[in-house]
Amino acid sequence: MSLLQVTDLGKSFGGNRAVDGVTFEVAAGELLALIGPNGAGKSTTFNMVNGQLRADSGSIKLDGQELTDRKPRDIWHLGVGRTFQIAETFASLTVVENVQMALISADAKLYSLWKRAGDHRRPDALALLGQVGMKAQADRPCSVLAYGDVKRVELAIAMANAPKLLLMDEPTAGMAPTERNELMALTKRLVVEKNLAVLFTEHSMDVVFAHADRMIVLARGRLIAQGRPAEIRDHPKVQEVYFGSGKTFEKKTIA
Ligand code: ADP
Ligand code: MG
Repeated sequence: MSLLQVTDLGKSFGGNRAVDGVTFEVAAGELLALIGPNGAGKSTTFNMVNGQLRADSGSIKLDGQELTDRKPRDIWHLGVGRTFQIAETFASLTVVENVQMALISADAKLYSLWKRAGDHRRPDALALLGQVGMKAQADRPCSVLAYGDVKRVELAIAMANAPKLLLMDEPTAGMAPTERNELMALTKRLVVEKNLAVLFTEHSMDVVFAHADRMIVLARGRLIAQGRPAEIRDHPKVQEVYFGSGKTFEKKTIA
């Protein structure tokens, strides 16, 4: 049985069927890309899985447990993590303090987020930073980090709760191609080492084809294809949605 099972998922905004009968699975140890043109329903799908949005219809099961109608915090506790951008308020904290905050929050201790983390869970935070190659920069403020390094810290923060499934909606937005590839290679390493399931969206087809184990493709709320990158690259429906008929991914166009 797959870790995540999404069945016939639906969500409308007014008369707009943003997600229309979508069915897919994600296995533990799998890096699955969700692609599709703007407005295809990718973020809406993510937000139903993490509980930010309530599904109109269908089912979302993690390890066989139904997630629809649960609160975001409960879904997070059950093992669905997501990457967040480090907020302004946390940029002044050091790298390791940011990860300590995430660990403290995962402990559900009654710490005020406005207090400094002190030494609380510092060794665990350093271990997480080691996994994303950021231990050497642990005591620098996040505000001085290179953009690609901030993204690594965001990944460490998302790992603080030891999620079974990690959702990454456009994790490489704003990054240069080299940084994009590095972040996805790092993510892939975590997928393998921790048997983690990752569902991510990404605009660069080069990055998706290079790193995803499998892909699913949405267009206007509907799932139009799924398969291995090589299968998707040659899929006529996918090429039509992205480029109109007769054109292909050869152009490596960004969606
Ligand atoms: P993607 O992430 O693939 O670009 P979205 O899931 O954000 O697509 O959007 C899917 C469709 O749902 C779009 O037509 C979008 O305009 C619409 N939509 C998304 N969120 C809302 C919302 N909160 N209210 C109304 N319409 C929305
Ligand atoms: Mg989106």
